[in-house]
Amino acid sequence: MNSPTSQDQVQELRRQLQSLLEAATANERKLDRFDALERRLIAVSSMEELVNLLLVDCREDFGLDAAELWLLDPDEELRRALPALPMVKAPTLLDGHGPLKDLFGAARTTRLIGPGPDEDLLAKAFGEGSGARSAALLPLIRQGLLIGSLHFGSRDPERYDAASGTKFLDRLAAIAAISIESMLNRERLRRAGMTDGLTGVHNRRYFDHRSLIEFSQAVRHRYPLACLFLDIDHFKAINDRHGHPAGDEVLRQVGGLIQRSLRTGDLAARYGGEEFVILLPRTDLAGACEVAERIRLLVQEAPFITPDGGTLGATLSVGLAMLPPGAVSFADLLTAADRAVYDAKRAGRNRTVAAEPGGAAEAAAGS
Ligand code: GH3
Ligand code: MG
Ligand code: MG
Repeated sequence: MNSPTSQDQVQELRRQLQSLLEAATANERKLDRFDALERRLIAVSSMEELVNLLLVDCREDFGLDAAELWLLDPDEELRRALPALPMVKAPTLLDGHGPLKDLFGAARTTRLIGPGPDEDLLAKAFGEGSGARSAALLPLIRQGLLIGSLHFGSRDPERYDAASGTKFLDRLAAIAAISIESMLNRERLRRAGMTDGLTGVHNRRYFDHRSLIEFSQAVRHRYPLACLFLDIDHFKAINDRHGHPAGDEVLRQVGGLIQRSLRTGDLAARYGGEEFVILLPRTDLAGACEVAERIRLLVQEAPFITPDGGTLGATLSVGLAMLPPGAVSFADLLTAADRAVYDAKRAGRNRTVAAEPGGAAEAAAGS
């Protein structure tokens, strides 16, 4: 017969076994959740999908109260690319390492923060008023470099306990970092494929594709579409006199001036050697003339800095054509603008010439 003491011991052992079983089940569920997330991370196919997964889906799947993603963006590459992407919540872009150093110091390992001396990091990681009382801060490291951080926060002060293990989180951070890097590379490649390497404006290939879309939209919705063709004057002489690298520098700076003169929705591209083309949707003749003249005067007044530190002046001629009612193809519009540039050259250069209304239609009739 069992003594009362041994019965107590059996009961205690049962309790311990039960709690071990519960812990094992909970761990297994946690592992499943992490596993499912990791599989999705590996399978993402776009930057916006990745960000939505880390900041929105994670919150729901893990029952979090706050989630933040910080990404280092010293060259403002992401700052330019992200606004165009459909994201529910955007990552925070960092100019430098300062904020990451505040969170991780030199250690750069996952940090679990709860009530205690490090509590003030919660406001840094999630902003004031987030309500987070405990958090997991995951450094994102690729090839030995810190590229950002991922923050999971909870209102429960005990959710992330400094004494718990971080194995699952470390693994998640490693996979998230790989996914982010591969999405960044994909984005870079996509942009490189449609950008002119010298001037940073779109290339001809992208223009040929986008112009057809702009053309058909303007025709369908019956709004005006202006086309500007810009050709730098006596550019060969600039090369001959100052050298090819100086010519390149003029092209680069003209590309920058053009880009800064346009609104979102306008399209600028380097069409060929020293020729640029601009499409202005929903812009009438007067508006297009204004844009053309603004760019022409900016170029005329710019001191172009050459690689040897000198300066030189340059001008350009602009041909302008408006989408005429009933135009049959985009080529008509482009041909009309191109012809207008020749008129501008013949008339003495450094000027804007608008194609005669109907000129493009004539070209269409002749083709
Ligand atoms: P116009 O006023 O009649 O337009 O005369 P232009 O000298 O500008 O025109 P032309 O077509 O005779 O010469 C264009 C020059 O542009 C010739 C070519 O060597 C130069 N060019 C084309 N692409 C580049 C480039 O990427 N870099 C540099 N530096 N020069 C280029
Ligand atoms: Mg030319
Ligand atoms: Mg020229």
